[in-house]
Amino acid sequence: MEIHGVLVASPGMGHAAPILELGKCLLSHHGFDRVTVFLVTDDVPRSKSLIGKTLMEEEDPNFVIRFIQLDVSGQDLTGSLLTKLSEMMRKAIPQIRSAVMGLEPQPSVFVVDLLGTEALAVAKELEIAKKHVLVTTSAWFLALTVYMASLDKGTLFKHLSSNGALLIPGCTPVKFDRVQDPSSYVRELAESQRIGLEVVTADGVFVNTCHSLEPVTIRSFLDDKNLGLVMRGVPVYPVGPLVRPAEPDLKHEVLDWLDLQPKESVVYVSFGSGGALTAEQTMELAYGLEMTGFRFVWVVRPPAEDDPSASMFDKATNQTEPIDFLPYGFLDRTKDVGLVVRTWAPQEEVLAHEATGGFVSHCGWNSVLESIVNGVPMIAWPLYSEQKMNAWLVSEELKIAARVDVGNGSVKKEDIAEMVKRVMDEEEGKEMRENVKELKKKTAEEAQRAQIMIVAWRIVKTGCLLRRR
Ligand code: UDP
Repeated sequence: MEIHGVLVASPGMGHAAPILELGKCLLSHHGFDRVTVFLVTDDVPRSKSLIGKTLMEEEDPNFVIRFIQLDVSGQDLTGSLLTKLSEMMRKAIPQIRSAVMGLEPQPSVFVVDLLGTEALAVAKELEIAKKHVLVTTSAWFLALTVYMASLDKGTLFKHLSSNGALLIPGCTPVKFDRVQDPSSYVRELAESQRIGLEVVTADGVFVNTCHSLEPVTIRSFLDDKNLGLVMRGVPVYPVGPLVRPAEPDLKHEVLDWLDLQPKESVVYVSFGSGGALTAEQTMELAYGLEMTGFRFVWVVRPPAEDDPSASMFDKATNQTEPIDFLPYGFLDRTKDVGLVVRTWAPQEEVLAHEATGGFVSHCGWNSVLESIVNGVPMIAWPLYSEQKMNAWLVSEELKIAARVDVGNGSVKKEDIAEMVKRVMDEEEGKEMRENVKELKKKTAEEAQRAQIMIVAWRIVKTGCLLRRR
């Protein structure tokens, strides 16, 4: 019997990248004969160009990537990212079903990320032997999701709106910002609780993390009296860090520019694949970077569509390009020390470059892992949702980041400049750099152990292992 794994990723590079890495790993090291990855997206050309060289298809005909194109026109995509993406995945289910049905040989393992857990029912219906979830964020976020689902909705909601800390068994409590708009939050909470209930219908859960990053939470998942109980016996496997290795030969203007800069002298600034600052905050960040005098690479994205300050700018001056939102003369004044990139940069390669010495990040989990595997300390600037938990983890627990105080929603140029200086120039920053380099070593060792763990999972649990490749 051939072992064919099918992996499904919800929209966004943050989900696609680790699913692709897991797929490669299963095929290269763990006895799978064939892996098919479905990437759900509303923009196939853009997704294709983003995953670009991560494609292994040409090298190995048993690694197949397919796109599931969604038509989102006319769909209600208001609300948080969680509700939007969940809605998109819901809409993709009929296409996922028919795509999986057409596969040869029939898959025996199905893996989907946390936002696509509704598709686990499809795997059951198609009688796929093993169904797994890949959590593309932290174990702590998984803990929050499954624990919230185990609580009564009414009490939980009261708890969240009172701004308290949620005590998750065996874990660091999660602090919430006060819920400002209960009506919009109810929908998100319902989605999140649904996901939490569906996760525990899987045969196992992979998490893109490892012991040196989250020892306490992982221990709680292994403990039958703590999160093990909440998981109802469904095993949790830390398999991370699943990070695409930087490509040494990649050509890009940013890398050419970095080649000319001294070691660890450049601050890389990026807010992920979807994160957008307001137009006002973009200005403030520009002034802050200028004030520090440090070298920088900044991936500038257009402001959020619903940002009132952006539409003001737009109407007044017809600005459309991301760089139109920078202060007048900024590019000229900083041309000797800074490089502004529109919308996208090859992040793994930038972080792996020896000139990069710090990372101003929104703390998406992939960005956090990429910073750690490359030994780069961070300035944690979370925008929403679990990014705030990630920021807490890197600043308070792992001590590899300084955390920006977002406070009333806007960060002043002086604070930005101070944060950058703290990480790039001060004693505290030196310690963070040492800590993150130590963590880089530990996570590299653990990545090896995680692979061994997957083998063990495959042999003991799947029952569909018959031979090694
Ligand atoms: N990314 C990139 N270039 C960019 C912005 C993002 O290559 O300019 C990649 C980044 O390396 C990471 C992913 O996109 O792998 C973003 O994932 P993350 O979880 O950090 O944040 P999200 O985009 O999901 O908020």
